[in-house]
Amino acid sequence: MFQNLSLSPLPPSDEALRKPVRRMIADAIAHIPLDARARSWQGFDAAFSRALGQAGYLGLTLPERYGGGGRGPFARFVVVEELLAAGAPVAAHWIADRQSAPLILNYGTDAQRDFYLPRICRGKAFFCIGMSEPGSGSDLASVRTRADATDTGWLVNGQKIWTTNATHSDYMIALVRTSGTAADRHAGLSQLIIDLKAPGITIRPIVDLAGDAHFAEVFFDNVALPADALIGTEGQGWHQVNAELAFERSGPERIYSSIILVDAWIAHVAAAGRLDGDTAALAGRMTAELATLRAMSIAVTALLARGESPVVEASLVKDLGTTFEQSVPTWIGDDLAAHPEEAVVPELYRALLYLSQIAPSFSLRGGTREILRGIIARGLGLR
Ligand SMILES: Cc1cc2nc3c(=O)[nH]c(=O)nc-3n(C[C@H](O)[C@H](O)[C@H](O)COP(=O)(O)OP(=O)(O)OC[C@H]3O[C@@H](n4cnc5c(N)ncnc54)[C@H](O)[C@@H]3O)c2cc1C
Repeated sequence: MFQNLSLSPLPPSDEALRKPVRRMIADAIAHIPLDARARSWQGFDAAFSRALGQAGYLGLTLPERYGGGGRGPFARFVVVEELLAAGAPVAAHWIADRQSAPLILNYGTDAQRDFYLPRICRGKAFFCIGMSEPGSGSDLASVRTRADATDTGWLVNGQKIWTTNATHSDYMIALVRTSGTAADRHAGLSQLIIDLKAPGITIRPIVDLAGDAHFAEVFFDNVALPADALIGTEGQGWHQVNAELAFERSGPERIYSSIILVDAWIAHVAAAGRLDGDTAALAGRMTAELATLRAMSIAVTALLARGESPVVEASLVKDLGTTFEQSVPTWIGDDLAAHPEEAVVPELYRALLYLSQIAPSFSLRGGTREILRGIIARGLGLR
């Protein structure tokens, strides 16, 4: 496994995207306060996503004939890294660009590709992920939402939960049971692209600890879908979902959720003129961990660029990356508390409060730490 996770440089042609995208982002976020930027990949701004699409920064991994960049995962890494480092509001296009589009490219029919991909690249079709259900989170194979074949397509009944951005999305890619029972586990699961405007769908937002309603419950009550709602092969949903999770778990978003706070803290200690050893040690620790995690994430990107599906390696990055993201608010909170004599800008406190409240979710979303460690153990042949 470790031979796979080799250091890899970012190709200069992709690195060249950094300056122009940084300029565009700087203009877009100039008016956004620090605590809103700390929300980054939960910040929903359809107009900003459309502007990114227009500038050619969405669908970078997709072929040009669908309006994509015709580039690859490294180009996307550079753009995503810049977006997250700045705390830009990326939620609108986030899931479509990261995993729905590659899924549709890999498993979709020509008609599905022609229909969805160009709109994803323009920032005009937003997607959400319908995997989790009450009682089926870690144990995803036990999903009970059912799609029964009809003369005209599919009839869907059931419920999803924790669906990020369901309220604002156009489509959900849902994992559903199309044959057998929950006892059949991985067999009989399929993926459907569900138009969230279809009759019979109810979306109920869930408010989190910080007061945001970025995820929702989604109910399906006799929702009739056309036959071409099926994506990929009926009964192969489990295999397809696992390939999708490699995209979901490996990216810089599993490292950078608290990055806004790191930058703001560095600006704070610089302004306070603090040059003591403890401060340098904390700055050094955060930088060293970040640099290592970034190198690991780029190594996984290199595997994606080679067309591999690095499920185990992505799990490693997400496990370690989210541990770092969760530690940052504690480290910085403790540091500020140890210096009560310093004036701290309210924005920094608000960002710290928000990230402290939300940090526990970093290791839940996209698969929990325990589940990732089980995958890593399996990768080592221990299970
Ligand atoms: C912010 C956020 C956004 C999310 N967005 C989405 C989304 O867009 N779409 C979507 O489908 N889901 C989404 N989720 C759901 C997320 O994927 C699940 O919460 C996660 O997979 C855990 O499932 P669960 O909540 O049912 O917890 P459970 O599976 O009930 O787990 C509870 C605890 O038991 C542990 N556990 C469970 N099984 C095992 C085991 N076999 N061995 C050891 N420990 C175990 C878990 O690690 C966890 O600590 C989101 C969650 C969050 C927090």
